Amino acid sequence: MDAKCQIDSHAEFGDMAELFEFVEASEYYDGPIAGVVRCRDCGVLFQYRCVPIIVDVLWHWTLVPRVTDVTDIPMSATEDTWISIVEDRRIPGSAMCRLVLMSNGVAEPNLKD
Ligand SMILES: [Zn+2]
Repeated sequence: MDAKCQIDSHAEFGDMAELFEFVEASEYYDGPIAGVVRCRDCGVLFQYRCVPIIVDVLWHWTLVPRVTDVTDIPMSATEDTWISIVEDRRIPGSAMCRLVLMSNGVAEPNLKD
C-alpha cells in the first residue's frame, strides 16, 4: 500500500463515492466496472475492477494501488497490499460497503475477467 494512504483497514461506508473519486473508467456495464479511482483523503490512485456477485444488488470491488500515472502501463502486480470491498444493496433503499485491506500473501487481487 502506498505509505500515503491511511485508509481504515476495516472501513464501512454507504457508497464507493464517499471514499473514492472515479477518475477514469475503461469498461462499463450499467456503470463503471474497471478503471481508476482516487482516494478522496490522500489522493492515491487505485486501479479497480468491479464484479457482480448477485446481479444488480451485490458486488465485489478489487482496488490495487497504481504505481504509475501513465495510463498505458499496467499496474504492478507486485504491490503487497490491496483493497477488497463488498458493496451490498440487497436491502432496497440501503447501501453498505465493507472494505478490508488484503495481503497478497493471503490472496492475490484479481483484476482480470
Ligand atoms: Zn488514502
